[in-house]
Amino acid sequence: METEAIARAIKLTAQLMELHQENPFKVKSLINAAFRLDKTDVSLSGKSLSELEKMEGIGKGIAQKIVELEETGTLKELDQLLEKTPKGVIEMLGIKGIGPKKVAQLWKELGVESPGELLYACKENRLVELKGFGAKTQESVKKAIEFNQASKGRFHYASLESYALNLVEEIKKKLHTSLVSLTGEMRRKDILVDKLEILIGSDKLYTLSESEVMPGLNLELLYCSKEEFAAELFRTTGSAAHLDGLGAKAINLKSPESEEAIYASMNMQYVEPELREGRGEIELAREHKLPRLIETKDLKGILHNHSNWSDGIHTLKEMAEYCRELGYEYLGMCDHSQSAFYANGLKPDRVLAQQKEIEELNKIMAPFRIFKGIESDILFDGSLDYSNDILASFDFIVASIHSVLKMDEQKATSRLIKAIENPYTTILGHPTGRLLLSREGYPINHAKVIDACAANGVVMELNAHPYRLDIDWTWIYYCLEKGVKISINPDAHEKQGYHDMYFGVCAARKGMLSKDMCFNALGLPEMAAWFNKRNSSAAKPGS
Ligand SMILES: [Zn+2]
Ligand SMILES: [Zn+2]
Repeated sequence: METEAIARAIKLTAQLMELHQENPFKVKSLINAAFRLDKTDVSLSGKSLSELEKMEGIGKGIAQKIVELEETGTLKELDQLLEKTPKGVIEMLGIKGIGPKKVAQLWKELGVESPGELLYACKENRLVELKGFGAKTQESVKKAIEFNQASKGRFHYASLESYALNLVEEIKKKLHTSLVSLTGEMRRKDILVDKLEILIGSDKLYTLSESEVMPGLNLELLYCSKEEFAAELFRTTGSAAHLDGLGAKAINLKSPESEEAIYASMNMQYVEPELREGRGEIELAREHKLPRLIETKDLKGILHNHSNWSDGIHTLKEMAEYCRELGYEYLGMCDHSQSAFYANGLKPDRVLAQQKEIEELNKIMAPFRIFKGIESDILFDGSLDYSNDILASFDFIVASIHSVLKMDEQKATSRLIKAIENPYTTILGHPTGRLLLSREGYPINHAKVIDACAANGVVMELNAHPYRLDIDWTWIYYCLEKGVKISINPDAHEKQGYHDMYFGVCAARKGMLSKDMCFNALGLPEMAAWFNKRNSSAAKPGS
């Protein structure tokens, strides 16, 4: 075994012992030994126990470990430590700037079990108030994880978009042509992107400068002639399923002027890039039945947001004023409910105090309106987080699962359905709890959950946070088929979070969502009437 590998194994043992709060003296001596071994160029192989013991900084205990590693390739102690530590927690030890003690604290106090979950915790400001952390540490942890994720070569669409669009503009400028476009996954706005492709209709080549290269990103510049630009854009944008579905008929035009002309030549409606996934869009386009897809300007209000009453950064007033400033007609406030103690969830007395503040603000801010909402935890048995009289005091309720995420499909599905059947539930929040690139989310039977929403008049959330985008867009078709409306909710924990609705709209368009079926495309009077109707029937169950 190489000395380096021995040093690594010993260091990991020390880190894990510290993580599990074992003897600090032993931890220290292991760390010192690992440090020395890492620096030495002396080969350890073939050395006897007594020879090893005599080396500087290597006592008897360490010498025994080296021999064990040489003989078996592993350490019993290390294996035991690894066994009782979740894989993601071990990965967290690799994040720059936080040692094992802090990792233990994040794991034990916040329940964070992977770098991805930790990144999300940063975005929700969970580290700001945590003892020994603070805003500065939170920011550096966030940067370190983002860097690690990027180096794995997959990116959230949101983290690439502005970089990609800037690069397109730069190429246009340098090559003096307007024929430059994103294509492939990026143009289809896939929620995760493995490859950034840019099509250039020019015979001149563009050289990327060093500062334009993003670490870890697979970037490809594709070239074609000016005349073939539209045809090539069409060929490189659609997924294989879309292009195969169009079959041999695709492009029977010579040097088509535009993609619109290509689809028109096949007697089809134009298919928006986001839809070119081979999921039924071709048939609809042939029948001229594709709907007009939702756009950000169709959204009239912002539901599901957090203020500093729970774990958000801004005050209720700041959240409301910024919402109004952006031109929206209403804001739905949904701070966390009482069981979410880690997020400063609202006990009943604070619910009532917040509602009073909302009423005061509504007087001043009319006709703008703040709706009294809550993001109620769905408890383990599927019930909501307050008694019925408190539940009845809200205008609307987003019901979400935040705790005990380790469930099998049957448990998760029945837990959700019980919440959906609660007459006070208005919207089902982030139905799978996934965090893209970091947490799978619990498995659910999507069809059953959506059927239950349809049967109970519950709206489905498309959580617009670019790490969630949950419900997945591929299930929006089924929601629409069943008449379940989709609410595009930013789950904003600060004012700027509202802008994430754009990424929700991108994903919703992939799912073929139209304005009619988007819940928060309802204007204020319609939304108020909808809530009223829903709540009066909740108060009289069975009617
Ligand atoms: Zn939530
Ligand atoms: Zn939330």
